[in-house]
Amino acid sequence: MVAPSRSAAYQRQYRQTDAYRAYRRAYARLQKHKTIAFLGGRCECCGETQIEFLEIDHVDGGGSIHRRGVTPYKYWADIRAGLHRCRVLCANCHAAVSNYGHCPHAV
Ligand SMILES: [Zn+2]
Ligand SMILES: [Zn+2]
Repeated sequence: MVAPSRSAAYQRQYRQTDAYRAYRRAYARLQKHKTIAFLGGRCECCGETQIEFLEIDHVDGGGSIHRRGVTPYKYWADIRAGLHRCRVLCANCHAAVSNYGHCPHAV
């Protein structure tokens, strides 16, 4: 006997709720914070440590392919397991490296 609260319909409905979205957001944030702390917790270019500005850079590229190809849990676990060469960059340095191939800080 499956409890009604665990039914597929309930699950489907639950995923539409703000509570679920908030949970997913908090979970994703926690994973990101853990991974950034694991990788040193600061922008490797300019030394920014404000977590809101920090992002993960896939050193060999392919970050979006990686993200799309696996579950969110595996994405962060892969990075912490060292399956992808990653480093922490702030949003500014990350954008410069992605769009121009280098950051002006590093001249
Ligand atoms: Zn930076
Ligand atoms: Zn920089």
